[in-house]
Amino acid sequence: MNHGYDNQTICALATAVGGALAVIRLSGEVARETAQRLWRGRARLDRAHARRLMLGQLYDEKGVLLDQQCLAVYMPGPESYTGEDVVELHGHGGALPMRRALEALLRIGLRSALPGEFTRRAFLNGRLDLTQAEAVAEVISAESDAALALANRQLAGDLGNEVEAFHEQLQAILAEVESHLDFPDEELDWKPLEWLEDQIAGLQARLGKLSATRREGEVLREGVTLVIAGAPNVGKSSLLNRLLGRDRAIVSSIPGTTRDTVEAELVVRGIPLHLVDTAGIRASEDTVEADGMARAKDAIAVAELVLWLTDASSPETQVPWPGWPHRGTVLQVENKCDLARTQSCGEMPIRISVLTGEGLEALADAIETAVLGRRGGTTGTVAVSARHAALLDRVRAKLAEALPFLETSAWELAAIPLHDALDALGEITGRAVAPDLLDTIFHRFCIGK
Ligand code: GDP
Repeated sequence: MNHGYDNQTICALATAVGGALAVIRLSGEVARETAQRLWRGRARLDRAHARRLMLGQLYDEKGVLLDQQCLAVYMPGPESYTGEDVVELHGHGGALPMRRALEALLRIGLRSALPGEFTRRAFLNGRLDLTQAEAVAEVISAESDAALALANRQLAGDLGNEVEAFHEQLQAILAEVESHLDFPDEELDWKPLEWLEDQIAGLQARLGKLSATRREGEVLREGVTLVIAGAPNVGKSSLLNRLLGRDRAIVSSIPGTTRDTVEAELVVRGIPLHLVDTAGIRASEDTVEADGMARAKDAIAVAELVLWLTDASSPETQVPWPGWPHRGTVLQVENKCDLARTQSCGEMPIRISVLTGEGLEALADAIETAVLGRRGGTTGTVAVSARHAALLDRVRAKLAEALPFLETSAWELAAIPLHDALDALGEITGRAVAPDLLDTIFHRFCIGK
């Protein structure tokens, strides 16, 4: 199947339009020669020294000056990012100069890179394994320092190395099993069954541990939607502002997407939280407010975390959690405890005062426990994605399948699930991987990456 990929030299703008600088990347056999056709400098690009910045001007193929001050660098394969010859042109930003240069490159024979194609080539040329390639996208999309640290560790190969170690251990197990098949009549120095059982049990434990990091991986990569809801005047906006102020979050509205109710992003204990606006929850006939309530109910139904706020200072007007349909955790929070010191709390909600800051650490603890199932911050080691976890679970199932065959010395039958298990591990790092899977992974990338 042709997936739109070939060996042509590709190019793309690697920077967002409008910045101070713009970078065009070229990768492939004729990267240097093609760039030279637009380049005038003291030194020729097609005879450039490796990895040395050069200064020159950029023209289009008809001789129109596009950028009076442009830097170029040539990075020869196989030691470049993609493993191919790479040229980068660093020019003035803004809308036009480098865009025109890119158009000229396309006119003189280069192909526009597909999303993630530079990184895809890096993977195909063995510069990165698949977990590292995935990490490249995650570095770019990281929304918290913990998510960034996780992505960087994965990019450094931490996850890939761990999976490779599993691969080696499994290969040793399989070699032992297959030696029974290959030399059934010889008295080889076979390892006892206990050795096989121990190896598999040890592997299962480590696979299980790695697979269990999935929740943390998901939370860090995707973040968690958090709805702050409750009757008017209980302090929802105040809490929101307090949380944002405390964590110095970037407040962003994201209009026109499915997330258009998201009001702000913030990070609590390393967990990226997408806050959802639920203004106007009130039992009312007023259509506007009824509309607001319907939206709040919708938001609560899908949120991973709901903070249901009540006002501790006016027990008579408290609106308790109405038990609306929800899929996530609902934390009941009593605010304004500064005004209700002697109040005892029936269902032991978390008591806070946004005004004085009391109880906010306990609230952060509760959020952390609700999201990660424990406290103490994100672990700081590797954490797998849903794709990795599914494959790890397949490996575990296959090992479990092999065990009874080993116990009955049915070596041939044992070898089959063990091979499947090896394949599944190989899919994580990309040792064995179908082009369709690569499409899925790399289409999430931006163009130029
Ligand atoms: P919302 O309608 O739920 O968003 O509530 P607001 O955040 O607008 O707060 C309503 C009022 O309660 C404001 O006057 C706040 O200053 C006040 N308020 C919020 N939190 C506290 C608190 O912890 N203690 C006290 N004493 N007042 C608070």
